[in-house]
Formats: sequence, structure tokens, C-alpha cells
Amino acid sequence: MTSSAWLKGEIVTTGTEILLGETVDTNASWIAQQLNAVGINLYYKSTVGDNIGRVTEVLQRCISRSDVVIVTGGLGPTADDITRDAVALAVGDELVLDQATVEALQARFSNWGTRMTANNQQQALLPATATIVPNPVGTAPGFRVSSRDCTIFALPGVPREMKRMMTDSVLPWLSERTGGTGVIHVRTLRTIGIGESAIDNEIRDLMAGENPTVGLAAHTGQADVRLTARGRDADEADHLLDQMEEQVRSRLGDHIYSDIKGLDIARHIVELLEAHDRRIASFELNTQGRIEERLRSHQGDSVLDKRSQGEEVRSRVAALLPQADASEAEYEQALETIDLVLAAACPDSLRLTVLGTTGDDHGVYQNRKGHTWVLLGDRHGERRTRFSFGGTDELTAIWIGNRCFDLVRRWLLARA
Ligand code: ATP
Ligand code: MG
Repeated sequence: MTSSAWLKGEIVTTGTEILLGETVDTNASWIAQQLNAVGINLYYKSTVGDNIGRVTEVLQRCISRSDVVIVTGGLGPTADDITRDAVALAVGDELVLDQATVEALQARFSNWGTRMTANNQQQALLPATATIVPNPVGTAPGFRVSSRDCTIFALPGVPREMKRMMTDSVLPWLSERTGGTGVIHVRTLRTIGIGESAIDNEIRDLMAGENPTVGLAAHTGQADVRLTARGRDADEADHLLDQMEEQVRSRLGDHIYSDIKGLDIARHIVELLEAHDRRIASFELNTQGRIEERLRSHQGDSVLDKRSQGEEVRSRVAALLPQADASEAEYEQALETIDLVLAAACPDSLRLTVLGTTGDDHGVYQNRKGHTWVLLGDRHGERRTRFSFGGTDELTAIWIGNRCFDLVRRWLLARA
């Protein structure tokens, strides 16, 4: 395994304007994105204001728990640029003037036709055991210094300078240290018809692993299982993913509908209907037409049976709709008679009828009230389902839609 070569890393961005949110911390996110590829496991990101005591304290903690620390900001010539002092304190070094840097600074200033002021000399102060990290695009150099088993890189805060120094010096150094670039591959398994906590229950032990890592991301009415594997190369990462996917599939079975990241269940249904050469005729009462709309917005026009939208069908269905205070039995009855109207108009299609109460607390998603009745059928049979939630708000419409899509999916797969 390659994991032994991986180093533990952390990022410290300094600057009161970063801490207070006046400047967005783009340095931290950019650096974080680079580290995987050079074999650094990023464990922490911290932001500290321009305060020597607090920066020193954070660096001491970094030294005690990490192999590599990348610090940005505070390398300039002004009084609030305290990073070099804080690093020197944290590693127990004196600050010494680096003569080569003084000369380089002097040369730069004379090039610009100005004299270097005393405070600029501060930029040539480095911890005694530090090694310079050249800055080809700015005045202040960065540096690298080690304490115990930890290596600290101090880089300027200006993103353009920091990035250039990372790319030219820091990343190649790290890569050499960790024994080359690994790769990270991610695979997303999209599930439907199973709740987040039920998934957690099924794969909890797999989620405790380190490579691949297994994580859960819940969306409205569906959840993703995200597998992330590290390997020496693409083959190794993919092999690890294949093995883990097999295990996850053995637990979650046909709740997994796709391994395509972001593939909407509506798009999946459109593809399934096309593959089975089927069309769907639908009527939906409490979802504001969202099921049909979602199919349409995923290139589903061709799988919708237009006959169910006809004037005559519409008016016949309208006459059959239950009253707002209808009983459950009346809803069941309406479901059946509306289905008969659809069956007569669209005899060869799959039929989906969705009726539901508006819910007393509609709009309050956590308190969904009411019920939704669903009838799915075709000339070979039918299936009735009742969801113990209703409502007319947007989120409920998505929930109901996803559950219905899952019913359609299972219906088609069972008859493949
Ligand atoms: P300088 O020599 O320019 O003073 P420095 O190393 O002292 O550089 P800072 O003074 O901390 O760096 O920051 C310089 C500028 O770089 C800031 O004004 C800010 O615009 C930008 N900057 C600093 N840190 C970050 C960060 N973490 N994310 C994005 N931009 C940053
Ligand atoms: Mg500064």
C-alpha cells in the first residue's frame, strides 16, 4: 500500500482581514486542492489574525501533530507582518539577516530607482535554520524550516506570489518527499427509496475505513454514497473503488440506481422508459405537475403520453377529483376511477396517478401532514401505494416525485 508514504498536512492562513471575512480565503482552498496530488493528507485548516502570540500558538500545535504546514501571509515589511517572528518562536530559532536576500532586495529597489527603506530589510530576516523559497514574482521570499518531524513553509499572502511559489518549489519538494504523486478517484453511487439513516445503518462499518473513504450526502428525498480512493495510479485507485462498490452494492442492492455523479432520477427514468420503449401517462394532484415537469426538463417529451393531456381526459378527470375534506376511502376510490380514465385514453402506456391532501402545515417540510395515494399500472397489472405525507410545498413535491420515480423504476426493472 502507498498510504505509508502519505504525510499529514495542514494549512494556516494569517491576516486579520481574512479572519474577519473581509477578504475571502482563496489561498486556503487553492492550496487544499493541490495537496492530494502530492501525497499530503490534509487534516486541518486554521486562520489566525495578525497577532504574534496566537500565530505562534497555532504553529506550535501544528508542529506537534502534522508533518507539513503551509502558512500564508504576513511576510511583508510592515509592523503587522509577524509570520517570520512567529515561526522563529515556534521552532525555537533566532532570526538572522540573510545577506543574499538583502542584496537581492537592494537590487530590486535600485532597479525601480528607489532606495530601500529600513523596514524592507525586515523581509530578509529568516529563522536561522531556514532555507529560502524563492519568490520570482514579488519582493518577500518565502522559507522552509523544520522542527522535530514537521516542516513549515511560510509563503506570502498575495495569491499570485503564493501560487507561483507553490507550483515552482513547494509542490515538487513535497512530491519528492512522499514518493511521487498519487491519484484520488471518486465514485458516487446514487440511491433512492432508502433514507440516509437506513443507509448509515447498512454500511456503518464501511464508513469507518480509510482507503477508500465512504461518505454520505443526503439530498431531498434521495442520498448519495461517495467513495474516495487513493492509489499510486489510476488503476490502483479504480481497483480499490471497484472492491468497495461491490461491498456497498451487496448491502444496498437495488436502492442504487446509478453511479453517474449528479444524474437526476428523472433523467434516469426517461432513459429507462426509452430503453423499454414505453411511454407514461400521468395525472398528479398535489405536486403541481412537478413530476411531469421534471421528466420534460430531462428531455422526456418523447416518453410522455400526450393523450393523457387531452381536453376530454382533463375534464373527465376534473369531475372525479376528491373534495378537500374527502375521506381516505374516497381518495382510494378517486384513484381507481382516474386510473380507469387514463387506461381508456392510453391503453398501451404505463399509468401514474398521484392524489394527495394538501397537508395542514403545508410549507413546513419537517411537519409534513396528510397522505399521498399513488396508483401505478399498465395492461398487465397495477400497484397501489400510500405515502404517509402530503402537502403542496416544493420540497414535498420533490419527495413525492422521487418516490414515484422509484416505483416506476422498479416496475420497469421487474419487467425487463
Ligand atoms: P505583502 O508583502 O504584500 O504584505 P504578505 O505576505 O505580508 O504580503 P499579507 O499582507 O498577509 O501578505 O496579504 C497581502 C494581500 O494578499 C492581502 O491584502 C490580500 O489581498 C491577499 N491575501 C492574503 N492572504 C490571503 C488569503 N488567505 N486568501 C486570499 N488572499 C489573501
Ligand atoms: Mg503584508
